[in-house]
Amino acid sequence: MKPVVLLRYIWASPNTVLGLILTFPVCMTGGRIRRIDGVLEISGRSAAWMLHRIPFVAPVSAMTLGHVVFAVDEAVHEQWREHERMHVRQYERWGPLFIPAYLACYIAARLRGEDGYYGNRFEAEAFGHERRIT
Ligand SMILES: [Zn+2]
Repeated sequence: MKPVVLLRYIWASPNTVLGLILTFPVCMTGGRIRRIDGVLEISGRSAAWMLHRIPFVAPVSAMTLGHVVFAVDEAVHEQWREHERMHVRQYERWGPLFIPAYLACYIAARLRGEDGYYGNRFEAEAFGHERRIT
């Protein structure tokens, strides 16, 4: 692993640890785990249960925490892989600041009268509607 890649994993690791903490109960209840391109993809019924109960944004089909991506099933991983990989890259850039920055953009969008998800700059970037956020 190149040093710059290792640094990205380390910088994103606080978020990845959160993802790994959630991975444990999902996999203990029959969830599936795969590693694709250095990212863990978790899916299954318990992942779906969790994704349908996330405060403010539920229900969602997929969610990224650092280098861990949860989805309701394999088909959703396939469908949303490019989008969720952009969130992985955002975690690699923002590290432990990603979740607070994401929430700030969510609130800012709501204050502008926009949807907190679709009006969020991080989501716009992941959907390819906006250039890179730095
Ligand atoms: Zn997204």
